[in-house]
Amino acid sequence: MADHRTPIVPPDADNISAAARRLREGGLVAFATETVYGLGADATNDKAVAAVFQAKDRPRFNPLIVHVKDSNAARAAVRFNPAAETLAEAFWPGALTIVLPRLDDRIGLLVSAGLDTVAVRVPNHPVAQALLAGAGVPVAAPSANKAGCISPTAAGHVVFSLPGPGDGGPDMILDGGPCPVGVESTVIDLSGSSPVLLRPGGVAAEDIEAVIGPLAAPGENEAAKSPGMQERHYAPDLPLRLDAEEPHPGEGFLAFGPGAPEEAMNLSPTGDLEEAAANLFAMMRALDGPPFEAIAVMAVPDRGLGRAINDRLRRAVVPADG
Ligand code: AMP
Ligand code: MG
Repeated sequence: MADHRTPIVPPDADNISAAARRLREGGLVAFATETVYGLGADATNDKAVAAVFQAKDRPRFNPLIVHVKDSNAARAAVRFNPAAETLAEAFWPGALTIVLPRLDDRIGLLVSAGLDTVAVRVPNHPVAQALLAGAGVPVAAPSANKAGCISPTAAGHVVFSLPGPGDGGPDMILDGGPCPVGVESTVIDLSGSSPVLLRPGGVAAEDIEAVIGPLAAPGENEAAKSPGMQERHYAPDLPLRLDAEEPHPGEGFLAFGPGAPEEAMNLSPTGDLEEAAANLFAMMRALDGPPFEAIAVMAVPDRGLGRAINDRLRRAVVPADG
């Protein structure tokens, strides 16, 4: 029988190493950070990251924050620049997330929703620190709550928001007491020509401006594309045709489920939506160029993670500046 509740456990050495092991095995673990409780997965395992979206029941893929144990681990994950060095020195470990160009190929594309940038943070909470040290991998972790719900700032909130271990939820919740900051991290994009405040949070924008100078709001400058939008979105260069049953000449074919032609790229030959989510961005990229002139995509069922897949496919049909 499925477990309907996730156990809340104290962050002693045994539980930390069990949680770290579950992460390395591709499982999900909820854990305390100084901002809010996170729902963690190995950021190098797209299947595990797909399970995070599934557990949260998110209707769309948005990029997740990758948690690393220190600045050196961050430098291995993303390409630092002088502003990043300054912010890391001033605010890490702490409630600041920095978006930079991706460097570590092991970090999956689903984590960044297909983008060439990755958001990284070094948390200062001892539970998060111990878990990251034990796991030895970067950990993708959005807030440990159902999509559309308030972020959890105590272990008990997580239990009531997410499914239990037998139903796709985390195996355990590492209890670190109430979160001292209690709001999400501040997100700064340093991947463009000037720094952009993507999300206000636990570190005051004024304090950041005091060390690196003025921050632009999203859409205020060239660095922030998609005016009026919090996030940038990956979109393929080639035109996309949805609900295709077979490819036309010149089209790359992105299939789903059994019975698709052998030469197609198949999101999931068995029709598994979690596997399809894990493969989506990498396969779109693989088809997005010569010898193809367009991409044809088979219908994907509009349930569970299929909704997030279809959301992204539909928005990829619309031109990037449309
Ligand atoms: P959450 O993990 O739910 O706390 O939210 C992560 C926040 O970071 C969201 O506001 C995302 O839009 C933002 N974010 C994460 N990665 C990126 C990225 N590569 N580019 C831009 N924004 C990002
Ligand atoms: Mg959240």
